[in-house]
Amino acid sequence: MAIRKIREWGDEVLNTVCRPVTKMTEHLGELIDDMLETMYESSGVGLAAPQVGVLKRVVVIDVSEDRNEPYVLINPRILESSGEQTGYEGCLSVPNKIGEVTRPAYVKVAALDRDMKEFELEGTEMMARCLCHELDHLDGIMYVSKTEGPLQDSRVLEEQETEE
Ligand code: ZN
Repeated sequence: MAIRKIREWGDEVLNTVCRPVTKMTEHLGELIDDMLETMYESSGVGLAAPQVGVLKRVVVIDVSEDRNEPYVLINPRILESSGEQTGYEGCLSVPNKIGEVTRPAYVKVAALDRDMKEFELEGTEMMARCLCHELDHLDGIMYVSKTEGPLQDSRVLEEQETEE
């Protein structure tokens, strides 16, 4: 496994629609392992393949506090969504920034796992937000195009939180 370089906002690869995966290969398995390692190393809750420069519809997610519930989603698609939540969101491709985004309160996604078996994943709160954010990456959409108000420095917010 290896840590991959995370592409940053402004890199054209992040504005490109990704191709579906047709079969599992050794190469793709390595990509998934590297994406998981890169996500954990960066303390991210999710990572999409274009963020490491690969234009394939692959996402890894772990929103658990203990960082031990990884999900691999290949060719994910949203089956259902409902409600609304507005909250701060950040992205490993936009370091040290956050912005407020409105997302569905609930989403249900279908995807293939790393054995190319279909499964469904549903979530609310952080999981719903994360699924929407990562799936957007596969269509070349960055959260910064959906923010309400300007981006803020995430370090300033952390300071405010510790003061409160
Ligand atoms: Zn992102």
